[in-house]
Amino acid sequence: ASARPAAPGERRIRLGDGVEIALWANVSGAADARAARAAGAAGVGLLRTEMLFLDRLDPPSEDEQVAALRAILGVFAGCPVVVRLLDAGGDKPIPYLAMSAEANPYLGVRGIRLLLDRPELLEAQIRAVLIAGHGHDVRIMLPMVTEADELVRTRAALERVQAALAAAGTPHAWPVPLGIMVEVPASALTAARLAAHADFFSIGTNDLTQYTLAAERGHPDLGRFADAAHPAVLRLIAEVVAAGAAADRPVSVCGEAAADPQVARLLVGLGVRTLSMGAASLAGVFRALSAADVPALEAGARAALAAETPEAARAAIAEAAET
Ligand code: PEP
Ligand code: MG
Repeated sequence: ASARPAAPGERRIRLGDGVEIALWANVSGAADARAARAAGAAGVGLLRTEMLFLDRLDPPSEDEQVAALRAILGVFAGCPVVVRLLDAGGDKPIPYLAMSAEANPYLGVRGIRLLLDRPELLEAQIRAVLIAGHGHDVRIMLPMVTEADELVRTRAALERVQAALAAAGTPHAWPVPLGIMVEVPASALTAARLAAHADFFSIGTNDLTQYTLAAERGHPDLGRFADAAHPAVLRLIAEVVAAGAAADRPVSVCGEAAADPQVARLLVGLGVRTLSMGAASLAGVFRALSAADVPALEAGARAALAAETPEAARAAIAEAAET
């Protein structure tokens, strides 16, 4: 529950039994942020920072990063904004970062792996988030986390940067929660252990689906595997939700699955209470959830977990939502 009262028209859904579902937005820039706020997003669950690094010849300076982040944070003043650190590599190559050629970029030096190899890049981005975040409810999220050590090393960098800002008397946001994308099956399976180091989890169903089903995202011939309603993926999501509940860590979903009204129902049935999606999907998901019967969705989710195929899982939740 948030201390801030919901603004009129805000996508926050109160259901029976005190269940509250918050709809947040995925944004990449200030224009996106304005569209998301206008569509009623109650926060930003995924601020993709890659856009800042693309289409240029060198990394953005700290000042450029601060200005770009401030423009977005200003639109969502008073609301939670989760800034994801640079997720370069995989489907998001950045030419000037001189990454070595990889036979399999999705399994290569991506996300937090790349940032930990380049401490100057990591620390400049963290500094920019802390400075821009001053006076805002800003949170930091790490992409592509596979093991606790990545979180431990990033937290050490975060604390180093904060200590330097404090010593210099530079105004900055603090404390700032540090969470992770759960998008690698290993992280989902060990979420209970990662909870000792992560302040929150956000499930990235796009990558979690591709890595679980060993099917490249966007592959033209493998579209049938691009479905987070696959029972194997649902089981991993259930594992993360259980680990989050046991350790009192918030769990949200920020992959495309959250934008699919049927899968959104399934996610609520699995216990997810915050869904983050592109602005254009907010109204449809709001409609799909606004009269939801949570116990019915929970029963549907149990049936979906036991289903054999994504189609059967979707049918199970559709049936439960109609009852
Ligand atoms: C995801 O993997 O689900 C996700 C939200 O991140 P991205 O699509 O940017 O990889
Ligand atoms: Mg991802």
